Amino acid sequence: MMTDHSTLFIGGEWVAPSSAQTITVISASTEEVIGSVPEAQEADVDAAVSAARSAFTDPDGWPTWSPEDRAAAMERFADALDKRIPEIARHISSQNGMPLTTSTQFEASFPALLLRYYAGVIREATFESEHPHLMGGRTVVRREPMGVVGAIVPWNFPQSLAAFKYAPALAAGCTLVIKPSPETVLDSIPLAEAVKEAGIPPGVINFVPGGREVGAYLVSHPGVDKISFTGSTAAGRIIGETCGRLLRPVTLELGGKSAAIILDDAELDLESMGQDLFQATMLNNGQTCFLGTRILAPENRYDEVVDMFEALAGSLKVGNALEESTQIGPMASSAQRERVEGYIAKGRSEGARLVTGGGRPADQDKGWFVEPTIFADVDNNHTIAQEEIFGPVLSLIRYTDEADAVRIANDSEFGLGGSVWTKDRERGLGVARRVQTGTIGINQYLPDPKAPFGGVKASGLGRELSPEALTHYQQYKSIFSA
Ligand code: NAD
Repeated sequence: MMTDHSTLFIGGEWVAPSSAQTITVISASTEEVIGSVPEAQEADVDAAVSAARSAFTDPDGWPTWSPEDRAAAMERFADALDKRIPEIARHISSQNGMPLTTSTQFEASFPALLLRYYAGVIREATFESEHPHLMGGRTVVRREPMGVVGAIVPWNFPQSLAAFKYAPALAAGCTLVIKPSPETVLDSIPLAEAVKEAGIPPGVINFVPGGREVGAYLVSHPGVDKISFTGSTAAGRIIGETCGRLLRPVTLELGGKSAAIILDDAELDLESMGQDLFQATMLNNGQTCFLGTRILAPENRYDEVVDMFEALAGSLKVGNALEESTQIGPMASSAQRERVEGYIAKGRSEGARLVTGGGRPADQDKGWFVEPTIFADVDNNHTIAQEEIFGPVLSLIRYTDEADAVRIANDSEFGLGGSVWTKDRERGLGVARRVQTGTIGINQYLPDPKAPFGGVKASGLGRELSPEALTHYQQYKSIFSA
């Protein structure tokens, strides 16, 4: 099904773009063209920022709405998104190769959950409090919305990661200009329609589909007050530098190379743990930032762990992302597949042992597929253990004892996700506390919307989700009086 769209959603309307340039979207599974949208130019970004600014400064505008009114509008937005779950899921899976079950369960459903969660948070929160001044008199402390937010989103979870930004930003009273990734622009059409249907005021959310130039222009735009970015560490560093120079607040959610630590008492039974293990290490064809792609296995059970992962990889159904039974779809783009294949070649040349996979599946003649791939005898210094691959490729690394496992887990530039596998939750917690990371799971990995999500070290700055994220879209004002 083709989706050709000729307008941009700016200022609450579908408007003509400033140029005839378009972004063409190609199906990751079939390599066929599936749609196009206008490519935003600098003039369109100017218009979007100006619309967001007007919506923010309007005397009756979004930030002046009571938390109750904002919460009600956010719930209408959630209802409008719920109606579009199948449409959004199909767009995502066609574009980036995410298996349809994942795009339906996570991508197309999570944003509404998050909107309702933050609606609840602002109904409970107090944005203004008063206390006696420590040196006499009274002080009022306010939490005010930051203003216009530039939100830059990657292609791997385009809807959820946009919602990680717009849900707390809307709750705080900010307005937004969202820049989707060129690979995944079609799903922002139903998203914008939901914004309109929900009666979110014109200009509160605007979309500027485009590549890195458009993103860079938005980051340094004088009309933007805050940048919220999810993407690669390389781009995050550039954006962080720009924001540092401009003294512009920035949240950076970046890459990862997390460890899945299998303790020596772990069950190692695919029947009972296979689904959780898959989700923690290979979700979305390995194109997920928080995955534990370094599997740390105890020396005395190393061969068992290798066998288990070989069996897991062999059991996965690889196929067209739109088929219900597919567990591993294609890579999002041919460039992404080349990148993944480059790492597989590097793994081989640096001496890791290829246990299974490593090639393209023989039964897929179209689409950017890579076989689920397991490398054993990986040294933590190997390139495949240090760099983010962003594909279905796991590295199995030996450790001697618990302290060694924690040392290897922490011997990484990154610190975003991870997991610990054990029969003993308390023991798992003890290990989890020692891993340098922003988030970690025990016998599973599933981010909790009520808990802060984000990374340490090169995995980012700041946190998303939870009441904590709201504070990234607010600034404090203290008013002293007699
Ligand atoms: P990317 O950094 O290439 O692009 C991400 C987004 O930023 C895109 O919209 C892109 O157009 C834009 N962009 C790129 N360079 C820019 C610049 N200099 N200025 C402004 N905008 C710019 O990343 P990607 O390949 O789209 O996504 C994959 C990466 O995202 C992986 O590294 C992954 O780990 C990371 N990621 C992180 C999280 C997280 O929460 N930490 C979540 C998902 C993905």
